[in-house]
Amino acid sequence: MPRQRIIAANWKMNGNLALVDTMTSELNNIKFSDDVKVVICPSFVYLSALSAKIANNNIKLGAQNISEHASGAYTGEVSADMLNEMSASYVIIGHSERRSIFGETDKQIALKVKFALANGLTPILCIGESEAERVEEKTDAVLSQQLQPVIDEIGIESFKDVVIAYEPVWAIGTGKTASPEMAQETHQFIRQFLAKNNAEIAEGVSLLYGGSVNAANSKELFAQTDIDGGLIGGASLKVDEFKIICSAAQGS
Ligand code: PEP
Repeated sequence: MPRQRIIAANWKMNGNLALVDTMTSELNNIKFSDDVKVVICPSFVYLSALSAKIANNNIKLGAQNISEHASGAYTGEVSADMLNEMSASYVIIGHSERRSIFGETDKQIALKVKFALANGLTPILCIGESEAERVEEKTDAVLSQQLQPVIDEIGIESFKDVVIAYEPVWAIGTGKTASPEMAQETHQFIRQFLAKNNAEIAEGVSLLYGGSVNAANSKELFAQTDIDGGLIGGASLKVDEFKIICSAAQGS
């Protein structure tokens, strides 16, 4: 079965109700192929407004984070039940900004993935190396260290319901994109790492590339064998550019 192709928009702490309106009115009219999903991940406060405006079965709603707790005294956190109530079906987990700015650990990220799955949400698990780690040729080791705790926590079989986004930290928001060849090589490493645990599961996991994807580079990146779409930050806030990126995933 062909892998699901996914273009996920990470609005981060950007966007407003006007963007909700313009993005949905433009994307709702696009006829996507069956194997393409567009996942829009706004700030929590816009989930409800987006949910009300999405009118296209290929467009799904996602959140940018989730608590690993069910409920309780966790000021500022958002639970799986709340995300489900807002009709979110995906959630970004372990974004490099969550790891570096908010101190999320591999263990905590693994627990969040487990909790999301237990509550019917599809995690978009982010992994990626820093520039220094790439230069020191530690990329494979870093990715393994980020993946293994999640495999240990949920078991490899559960990866049939997980999406992985490979985002080299040095490429996020910097305008520096991994070359298609470099991105493919790393995606292939990730798939092979999963395959050591279960080849069939590894073959079915959608692997997204993230890091300064734009209208000009998306088609070539998405054409790589092990790249099944993208996680898009800055360019997902520009309606015309994002539409071009979405169309690059169609039939590639
Ligand atoms: C991101 O934050 O996930 C991201 C990939 O950002 P950008 O596309 O702006 O590099």
